[in-house]
Amino acid sequence: MSLQHIPSPFINHRVELSSCIEETEPPSCEFSSSLSSFCCSCGNDVLPETLVSFQKNMNFISVNPKAKAFYQKYFPGSTEEDWKNWKWQLKNRFTTLEQLKKIVILSEAEKSALEGRKDKLPLAITPYYASLVDPEDATQAIRRTVIPSDLEYIMSPGEALDPLHEDGDSPVPGIVHRYPDRVLFLVTNFCSVNCRYCTRSRVVQENDSRMSDLQQWEKAIEYIKNNTQIRDVLLSGGDPLTMPESKLDWLLSRLRQIEHVEMLRIGTKVPAVLPQRITPSLVKMLQKYHPLFISIHFTHPEELTEETREACNRLADGGFPLGSQTVLLKGINDQVDIMKKLFHGLLKVRVKPYYLYQCDPIAGSSHFRTSVQKGLDIIQGLRGHTSGYAIPHYVIDAPGGGGKIPILPEYYQGRDGNNVVLKNYEGNIYTYYDPEKF
Ligand code: SF4
Repeated sequence: MSLQHIPSPFINHRVELSSCIEETEPPSCEFSSSLSSFCCSCGNDVLPETLVSFQKNMNFISVNPKAKAFYQKYFPGSTEEDWKNWKWQLKNRFTTLEQLKKIVILSEAEKSALEGRKDKLPLAITPYYASLVDPEDATQAIRRTVIPSDLEYIMSPGEALDPLHEDGDSPVPGIVHRYPDRVLFLVTNFCSVNCRYCTRSRVVQENDSRMSDLQQWEKAIEYIKNNTQIRDVLLSGGDPLTMPESKLDWLLSRLRQIEHVEMLRIGTKVPAVLPQRITPSLVKMLQKYHPLFISIHFTHPEELTEETREACNRLADGGFPLGSQTVLLKGINDQVDIMKKLFHGLLKVRVKPYYLYQCDPIAGSSHFRTSVQKGLDIIQGLRGHTSGYAIPHYVIDAPGGGGKIPILPEYYQGRDGNNVVLKNYEGNIYTYYDPEKF
């Protein structure tokens, strides 16, 4: 927003306004929905034009038609501005069976997962993401990723609560240190949605606020400071972008003060499930910490709505290198056409498909897992048939803490004397001169 037309006494209020909107929980500071003409931080007047201009800057210009129909039907007392407010979205998440029953016709398996159980499965869906759920078809891809099924209670061979052995690789709470030069920093256990196949469901389910406790963070920061080989810190959780801006700002600034930390990364699903969170104010704050890479968790092309595309473009415009992470899920995205559509759609909004994960064997996930061959077939169906940029690394995160292991179809067929034998994407065999004594 240009400051040119704002009389000088109002300039400071613009700053106040920005911080109060970000940090105050609704509805105490619902400037965006009520268009109140005073700053809730200091109580002084703000020009109406300033408010309107600021509001435009803060929110998304459009709400996709499906979302609009959804909030009009299920949140009749709310306004479009409420819908565009990420805190309103968090406050109105669907978290109970009763709430779900109002928006979808539940299948027997879904009902049985949530009805009369002592060990209830965690459930949370933002209204925005719920608007993408098919209310009638229990097999719809997006629906299966967020609405529990009773199959989650079945424990199968090879499954575990912490299959990647992250707890065992944790020198201090919140830090997973597996590779020498990088660490995973679990900064919150809160997510705006609960994905049914979540590798860290043991963490996300706990609702333990200690994870974002400052004292614990201090210990984790100290660990990073004392280990000078760490050059790359990945913030994850939970979802770091669900945290208040000031808290995230504080954390990033502390990490940036550590000289040997060269790059920071954030892992998030927010652009797909809560795109309203990607406000200009958030982007501006994050820009102070370049190089900052953002890995976004995407599952299906139906996630690429107008709002999500706008969120990704906003991050790309902010200069953040964007990569995607996708979990291969049975009956959800395990087809070449679906993956191709997702990866092409991501490239159009400047997100590089980065990892395709074989689904981790977390407890109760067998109905989501495909064979490894299925993943190889998908990579084979992409390689040579689309741009190399559209092809992620297919990896298995080795159970027990072995780290990510890339899996490739057999393009390299072995040696024949002074040649290596190669198979191309059409299955044709070629040789490449590569003398044994070079
Ligand atoms: S966004 Fe990631 S951490 Fe959060 S529930 Fe989904 S998979 Fe788990």
